[in-house]
Amino acid sequence: MYFIDEKYIETLLQDDKLHDEQFQLDAISKASEAKGLTLEESAALLNIDSPEVLNELFITAKKVKEIIYGNRLVLFAPLYFTNHCVNNCLYCAFRKDNHDLKRKTLSLDEIEEEARILVHQGQKRILLVAGEHPKISTVDFIGKAIERIYKIDFNGNNIRRLNVNVAPLNLEDFKKLKSYGIGTYQCFQETYHYETYKKMHIEGPKTDFEWRLFAMDRAIQSGIDDVGIGSLFGLTDYKFETLGLLSHAFYLETKFGTGPHTISVPRLEPALNAPAAMNPPYLVNDISFKKIIAVIRLAVPYTGIILSTRESAELRSDLFSVGVSQISAGSRTAPGSYKETRDSSDEHTHEQFQLGDHRSLDEVVRDCTALGYMPSFCTACYRSNRTGDRFMELAKSANIGKICVPNAMATFKEYLNDFASSETKDIAYEFFEKEINRLEGNIRNKAGQMIERVDNGERDVYL
Ligand code: SAM
Ligand code: SF4
Repeated sequence: MYFIDEKYIETLLQDDKLHDEQFQLDAISKASEAKGLTLEESAALLNIDSPEVLNELFITAKKVKEIIYGNRLVLFAPLYFTNHCVNNCLYCAFRKDNHDLKRKTLSLDEIEEEARILVHQGQKRILLVAGEHPKISTVDFIGKAIERIYKIDFNGNNIRRLNVNVAPLNLEDFKKLKSYGIGTYQCFQETYHYETYKKMHIEGPKTDFEWRLFAMDRAIQSGIDDVGIGSLFGLTDYKFETLGLLSHAFYLETKFGTGPHTISVPRLEPALNAPAAMNPPYLVNDISFKKIIAVIRLAVPYTGIILSTRESAELRSDLFSVGVSQISAGSRTAPGSYKETRDSSDEHTHEQFQLGDHRSLDEVVRDCTALGYMPSFCTACYRSNRTGDRFMELAKSANIGKICVPNAMATFKEYLNDFASSETKDIAYEFFEKEINRLEGNIRNKAGQMIERVDNGERDVYL
């Protein structure tokens, strides 16, 4: 359908040539130049079975990730403001027919309270998430929520980038959403396989495959530069799904000159009274999941890859190495749940799906540094107007590191000084010193000056 050419994707998946190890190795070698891959080459890499070739794929994805993103990992947290929903997606606990879910919509005060809790944890980026409801999750309400969240200020600590994951809007509403100063508009197609989509979405506006498929066109046409796509792995064959996702990315790049800012790779998690989630039709195992991330990294090297707390702590660390650039940390998926205690039995009766990683932000930060990754709370690009094609141009020039490294270090130092536990500080300060010593020339000077300003009490220091 449209730019998702199912027939072509099926042909690729049945093409014997794409199982040939030499063809796969040639594609890996080409990908090492960080210039991307075609759909055909991506299909070949998804077919890899041999452990040696797979290893080669992972090594190359790691190299490309390091060239573009270094060891930085951007952190964020989702904020759910309603679990009311008029749709009936068979994998989601928020679906209309789940009568056991306790429904809740946060008031503006409650949203602000949740956001304050996140600010006090040290978060600087929030992803605002909601069920779809024409009277509750309206663009005007979302706008008011955004205004309230952006106003929070705790000694110079605040939310500096608000991304939004809500149902597709029309052009007018996208324009309004843009006017509230959002960062990325995110919406997942869930599955690019038309028949599967029809089976999974049985009621409500989300049954309209096409309206969702072209949501990003409308968002971009309304002036939103950064859009995030994704699919929910487990609903259909993962090779088809990845090629669908990449077709979408290539299409946006061809049509608008810039591909998606981010790609998300949620995997189906257990969810209350959600038949497709409790028994995923196409379960994706960990090794295939790692392969998916590596192939996306090589196919679209400059697109951020987001991994959520759906995955376990152990697996997430392994996935960082092959291409993930953004992660959520300390997340909850029930409205109002940051206020509630972690073990509150009530949380599961409100939440969208169960989480695999229950660590706090502080623990995630500590574990990342112990693994050699630099947690970054940077939000500079979009506030310095480096969005859409301007961001991509910078990313493709070798200059991105000159900006990102000092920004990551200054925001990480802010976090360490203001929010880290003593246990985290012990590990992280040592890591931080080593990172500074790795820098050279101008970047070292810049980073040094910015860190000094942070240590002197200045906040929100960025390039
Ligand atoms: N309701 C809107 C929608 O569906 O686009 C906005 C956000 S929805 C709450 C966020 C995402 O959660 C969905 O796009 C879907 O990919 C994901 N999701 C739903 N059920 C899930 C499950 N059981 N496991 C993992 N992710 C799930
Ligand atoms: Fe509603 Fe979104 Fe869940 Fe579907 S995935 S039931 S639209 S909240």
